[in-house]
Amino acid sequence: MRTVLDMIAGRDAPQPHGQTGLGRILADLESHQCRFPLRGEGAATRFCAAEVSDAAWLPGSPGRCYCAFHQRVTVGRGTEAERSAPRVLERLAG
Ligand SMILES: [Zn+2]
Repeated sequence: MRTVLDMIAGRDAPQPHGQTGLGRILADLESHQCRFPLRGEGAATRFCAAEVSDAAWLPGSPGRCYCAFHQRVTVGRGTEAERSAPRVLERLAG
């Protein structure tokens, strides 16, 4: 199982099916290209660079500078459920 540490270190970064290649460094990214880090560190970090639709592109908002695939990966239901778990427990206790 992939851990957060793996994600930070860029190990086994999830990529959309059929996508190959090493991604692009930040300096080579154009607007509307996925900023999900695949591997590397610092200035050598390589990003997904898949096209992001106008509707999905909203830099500054969590997950909104990622392609559809990486948006699903990073804004997962699991995370939301984990965030809401304390509130659910509160309701049950009350
Ligand atoms: Zn992506």
